[in-house]
Amino acid sequence: MREKRGILARQQSAIKKSDLRHPASLTFAPMNLQERDIAVIWHPFTPLKQAPAPIPIVQGKGVFLTDEDGNQYIDAISSWWVNLHGHAHPYIAEKIYEQAKILEQVIFAGFTHRPAIELAERLLPKLPGRFSKIFYSDNGSTATEVAIKMALQYWWNREAFGDEPSAGGQQQPRKKILAFNNSYHGDTFGAMSISDRSIFTLAFQDKLFEVIFIDTPATENLDTLKTIIDKEGDEIAAFIYEPLLQGAGGMKMYEAGLLDELLHTVKKHGIICIADEVMTGFGRTGKLFASAYCREQPDIICLSKGLTGGTMALGVTAAAPRIVDAFVTDNRLKTFFHGHSFTANPLACTAALASLDLLEKESCLQNIQNIAATNTTFTDRLKKSSLPIRNLRQLGTIIAFEIEQGKDEYLNNIATTITQMALKEGVYIRPLGNTVYIMPPYCITTEELQKTHAVITQVLVNLQTMATQ
Ligand code: PMP
Repeated sequence: MREKRGILARQQSAIKKSDLRHPASLTFAPMNLQERDIAVIWHPFTPLKQAPAPIPIVQGKGVFLTDEDGNQYIDAISSWWVNLHGHAHPYIAEKIYEQAKILEQVIFAGFTHRPAIELAERLLPKLPGRFSKIFYSDNGSTATEVAIKMALQYWWNREAFGDEPSAGGQQQPRKKILAFNNSYHGDTFGAMSISDRSIFTLAFQDKLFEVIFIDTPATENLDTLKTIIDKEGDEIAAFIYEPLLQGAGGMKMYEAGLLDELLHTVKKHGIICIADEVMTGFGRTGKLFASAYCREQPDIICLSKGLTGGTMALGVTAAAPRIVDAFVTDNRLKTFFHGHSFTANPLACTAALASLDLLEKESCLQNIQNIAATNTTFTDRLKKSSLPIRNLRQLGTIIAFEIEQGKDEYLNNIATTITQMALKEGVYIRPLGNTVYIMPPYCITTEELQKTHAVITQVLVNLQTMATQ
């Protein structure tokens, strides 16, 4: 016993020693948050050399982020498209706090809890189409991973065993996946595989599984796309798409009517349609879900980001009865063997319920419409201007355009210049290369949105002046 205590004491003293090795304690001058960050943190999508130092944010309130020096910024991209109702929303915070005192986390296999059940009960009837079950995970990438695995296993369950009367004996399960060029569905390996090959996936190219990529529908290519689908359709297991708006691929928009026509052809072949509404969900496009603009509805839908109002990480993959039925069986091998430690975390589900409460308020729906209308006034003005932009587009609360400078690509350095210029004026935007966009939280006031528009205009004027000098 004495020996054990000795080991423990040595471990504890070792921990203390390693604490002393913290870079902050190596220097005599006190380090600020930025210096401490640079010493120990590796940020997402950020080069470790030549990136501007990260800005320490000490508070978020409503649409504003406040940095260590007291500067305030309008968060015009909702912190990577997640925040719906403003930062540190007191109602959501209160609900999370109350839940944290009751049940913070519990294993979700063999157990269940009220927030997860209530959230599923409230979400299912709101989804575009007919869905019967919710599968929870952690984020957008896991939501799409789950969707693809579910779809592939649907065919495996139906066809590999030859025991489904509807499947007509044992067959080769369908394995092909159809996706759009320019798509983005996440950063894990499955999610990367179903995303367009780009600089994001370049280093892993040979490790990604094969996917049939087609262009998003346009009047000129619709017949060609239909022909491709008709040719390969009976071997395709699933089609995954970001409805109406390809986010990380450059905020590219396409028409609901054309998507509808494509989905019609896809469905004719029994292909499982997976709508990735991780970004478009919860009002961004002006309707609760982008799929609601279409007549043809998905069989699986992926949600995350705004699901919790942007407060906590949570993913949802909702499945239609057709999918679920293929898993209702006595054969244990047909179980969906997928799960994460924090599946359906009660705090995250509670945040999602609180966010739905706020989203359902008349005032929130009104705000979404006001944002769209104020954005239209701005885009009308931009259209008449001679500022160096093209492809100006709008969908609901989102506007986007390309800057006419350098190449149309993510690595276009103009992005950093624009972010820094706007930050100086109190607005945070983060262009995707030369694609500038805004996607504000719904609590933004007309004045704050107009200020955002004014700052963007000023940045464009500055860029124009710089280009002519
Ligand atoms: N799907 C879409 C459409 C997305 O926009 C994103 C994130 N930008 C993802 C999936 C991945 O989500 P996450 O970053 O939460 O993994």
